[in-house]
Amino acid sequence: MDAVKIIENALKEGRKYLMEHEAKSICQQYGMSVTRFKVAKDLNEALNYAKEIGYPVVFKIVSPDIIHKSDVGGVIVNIKNEEEAINAYKRIMENIARNKPDARIVGILVQEMAPAGLEVIVGAIKDPQFGHTVMFGLGGIFVEILKDVTFRITPLTIEDAMEMIREIKGYPLLKGYRGQPPADENTIIDIIMKTSKLLTDFPQISQLDLNPIFVYEKGAKIVDARIILE
Ligand code: ADP
Ligand code: MG
Repeated sequence: MDAVKIIENALKEGRKYLMEHEAKSICQQYGMSVTRFKVAKDLNEALNYAKEIGYPVVFKIVSPDIIHKSDVGGVIVNIKNEEEAINAYKRIMENIARNKPDARIVGILVQEMAPAGLEVIVGAIKDPQFGHTVMFGLGGIFVEILKDVTFRITPLTIEDAMEMIREIKGYPLLKGYRGQPPADENTIIDIIMKTSKLLTDFPQISQLDLNPIFVYEKGAKIVDARIILE
């Protein structure tokens, strides 16, 4: 479905929160690389999609009422075969029944397991006065504890994106550190620029989170995406 339709659809259903598969579809339409995914409506479909995508896969709960999926036991990674997939499916459904019993369940998001990479975050919030601000930082403790992040107001220039990447304290980690390969800076710049474009096209986005993005020596993959509308 096209980005405009996805957003219209959500608003028509009275939702401000776009689920991961919806947010990732929009990112894909802007040319960003996301983990391959399909929404399964039952166990049987989940097993078929897992085979189609190829093990190892990740299962995630799909619900308009669940924003932080792993907080309620709604994410299981590294599912290696059909037996593990059956167990993971059951476990997620049990976790949701226990932790979020009122949640409406759309199904299970089956996706490729992305190889480990350097974790970064691209985010955005809308300020009533200044419009959208884009945030960039390294993932995990760098954002949560060290608050090593940087901001720019949209629309961003390519120079803005380059500066953002280079001005965080953790930049040496991106450059490659103690034998770690360097991360693909151009791909990060590309994701930041495409995010800026997406935000200018859709002023009704109040919050966006691409968290985490795994960055490799060549290319990157958006592993989780969230969009909130005004
Ligand atoms: P949440 O809604 O809790 O933020 P995420 O989709 O971000 O859920 O999943 C939680 C964590 O699981 C991620 O931060 C990442 O470490 C891991 N993960 C999720 N999806 C994948 C994937 N496709 N490949 C590899 N790891 C993943
Ligand atoms: Mg996440």
